Amino acid sequence: MKYGRIYNFSAGPATMPEPVLEEIRDEMMNYRGSGMCVMEMSHRSKVYQQIIDEAEQDLRDLMNIPDNYKVLFIQGGATLQFAMIPMNLMKNGVACYVETGAWSKKAISEAKKYGDVHVVASSKDRNYSYIPNCDDLDIPDNADYVYICENETIHGVTWPKLPNTKGHILVSDQSSMFLSKPCNVSDYGLIYAGVQKNVGPAGMVVVIIREDLIRDDLDPKVPIYMSYKTHADNGSMYNTPNCWAIYCCGKVFKYLKSIGGLEAMYKMNLDKAKVMYDFLDSSKMFKGTVDKEFRSLMNIPFVTESAELDAKVVAATKEAGFDNLKGHKSVGGLRASVYNAMPKDGVEALVAFLKDYEAKNG
Ligand SMILES: *Cc1c(COP(=O)(O)O)cnc(C)c1O
Repeated sequence: MKYGRIYNFSAGPATMPEPVLEEIRDEMMNYRGSGMCVMEMSHRSKVYQQIIDEAEQDLRDLMNIPDNYKVLFIQGGATLQFAMIPMNLMKNGVACYVETGAWSKKAISEAKKYGDVHVVASSKDRNYSYIPNCDDLDIPDNADYVYICENETIHGVTWPKLPNTKGHILVSDQSSMFLSKPCNVSDYGLIYAGVQKNVGPAGMVVVIIREDLIRDDLDPKVPIYMSYKTHADNGSMYNTPNCWAIYCCGKVFKYLKSIGGLEAMYKMNLDKAKVMYDFLDSSKMFKGTVDKEFRSLMNIPFVTESAELDAKVVAATKEAGFDNLKGHKSVGGLRASVYNAMPKDGVEALVAFLKDYEAKNG
């Protein structure tokens, strides 16, 4: 590891690709002859316009985003979308949500402020350790959309296939799996992702929305910033955008293209997660908490027999140079977040450490 960096398994903000950080460092004092750093630049300048245009185009290339979808860069993280989605998409005031963990729960409680929310399936009965069957959901005809969290960052569950929405619009929170595998955008009405998990610095969300869902007849009390139309009509620059995050994300998009795009990234992610899951399946001391079919490629929660031992292992990993492995309090135990930018070496080193720990203490 260069620069004294360590393997950082944080769930977010999370590790970034080193070549991207190096490029940002090299451009810090003088961005390509502009004489200034990107964080000092007017967002109305030509040079910045090129940065945001390229970021959008590279994302479109990576995900094959159809022309009838808008790409928006909005502030307020993923959390603001919990409110923006119902404010903008609830025409009839009715929406269906699938409850699969902490993040879908938060989205549900926010949406309830704006309309009639039907929780059409839930995995609460076994502490969100699986995805409920969503082949035949009870969706009212007038439902405006069906909402899912496609990768639950805290509980470590992901959807092996999308729900049957029976013709209704699908809305997905992809925050902790964004760009981790190929995605067929036209299966969705709206996809969003807070970028600090798998892409860039915190404080921004990418929204990919089908054009016909952008409305000009919202309640006039909806704040101007919270209407998708504001952002769509102004190229994500109605006000000063998160220029720095857009720049960094743009770098990551280019980096992903350079290593072969999302197919290649997906292969690497499968390969990496397998190292961790194979270990968990063979270990006597450590156990994964999620049903196999629904295991996340990005967030891997696991436990020992007791909270005391969990805490000892977390302390030992930290001592050995692996950081942020403490599990979220609602699941306990440990959690290894192995996003796109985590190298396979990092996962192998962690598994070697845990094997050794088990051999010595098991
Ligand atoms: C982190 C996270 C959020 C919240 O993101 P913020 O940018 O902190 O608002 C929402 N959904 C999922 C799935 C997340 O992982």
